[in-house]
Amino acid sequence: MTSYRPLDAEALRACLGARNTLAARLGGAPADWVLREVSDGNLNTVFLVEGPTGALCCKQSLPHVRVDPDWKMPLDRTDFEARYMRAVSPFVGHLMPEFHAFDAELHLLVMEGLTHHRVLRTALADGTAAAGFSARIGEYVGRTAFHTSWRGRPFEAVMKNVARFARNTTLTRITVDLVLTDPCVPDCPRNRPLSPDLDETVAALQSDSTLRDAVSRLQERFLCCPQALLHGDLHTGSVMVHGDDVRVIDGEFALMGPIGFDCGLYLGNLLLHACARPERREWMQDEIALFWRSLEHLYRDLWDENPQAGDVGALLSPESRRSAQAATLRAIRRDSAGFAGLELIRRTIGYAQVADYALTPDRVAEAEARRRALALGRTLILGATMDEAVEACFQ
Ligand code: ADP
Ligand code: MG
Ligand code: MG
Ligand code: MG
Repeated sequence: MTSYRPLDAEALRACLGARNTLAARLGGAPADWVLREVSDGNLNTVFLVEGPTGALCCKQSLPHVRVDPDWKMPLDRTDFEARYMRAVSPFVGHLMPEFHAFDAELHLLVMEGLTHHRVLRTALADGTAAAGFSARIGEYVGRTAFHTSWRGRPFEAVMKNVARFARNTTLTRITVDLVLTDPCVPDCPRNRPLSPDLDETVAALQSDSTLRDAVSRLQERFLCCPQALLHGDLHTGSVMVHGDDVRVIDGEFALMGPIGFDCGLYLGNLLLHACARPERREWMQDEIALFWRSLEHLYRDLWDENPQAGDVGALLSPESRRSAQAATLRAIRRDSAGFAGLELIRRTIGYAQVADYALTPDRVAEAEARRRALALGRTLILGATMDEAVEACFQ
């Protein structure tokens, strides 16, 4: 038994060296391996390890938030990420890194190391992302959403995930606070101070009671609709790309919830990018359309191919199934618009902001981008479709 300690590069080298299967993936001797810390998220330590014959990515939880040692946190978040990877990998194949091992004492997750891939947010920033990546994300969400839902599995299998992921309360609490609550709370200490240019806009948003009512409905959707196993943190920093190879990483926020939450987070981040780089608006709209086309085709096909796979829907005739599919997909789009709106707002005024705003040329342009994101977010939360909201907010 190894007891928990945060591993530095040399401790990790020894740890991998003592595990034959993992060492064999890397090849050569431990001294030949090149270890590089690649942590860039808020929460965990991540090392990329390259050997003569392969690469591993090793992710370890810390007893606190990585970027804030005073914010203490239980160690079990990589446990949930490992469980999530095991739960969805049969359905998504190479759309995520291959899962290799999990050490429950060290809270150390070991997966395929992606040595050529780059984080999508970074690839968008420096112009190296190849258009069309969203078709793969639509496929990812379509596959996970169908196969982990009450339509895709017998209820016993779904309830296993309900029980397992109901315990992911630390990270679900972060979502409830940071995404679904704080942005609407005036003077919330976790929100970030912004340029005074934005004071009036933020004050108006936070005193808008219609908006708060709509956000309350989204809170209810998030917590009370366990439709499928969600990734839970599907932003452009949780996607890695290399040419047209697209991988989803960082599933530690996994929980059972409304399918539109994963869609909305992802699409909200595309819209944030469009706010920061308005000349890319049409490209981002094309990505959004691709995402839906891919998700909807796949979701319908999977449902048609497996009409008896779950306990919900097994009674439907083919015609009723078609109208049930249309209604389900409409509801997913509706939820997605609301959650995308929340993501736009919380990434603009909340604790965890996005690097996309650094792409604006100056302070005035940045304030304008943030103002647009807040307006777009509000319009979406109040019930506009994504097309309507983009039309109204980009003039
Ligand atoms: P956090 O939960 O702290 O956000 P992530 O899982 O997002 O951690 O990983 C942090 C960074 O590590 C990613 O942004 C990416 O650069 C790198 N990374 C994560 N997984 C892999 C992988 N499988 N292969 C290569 N790099 C990875
Ligand atoms: Mg991350
Ligand atoms: Mg992160
Ligand atoms: Mg994470």
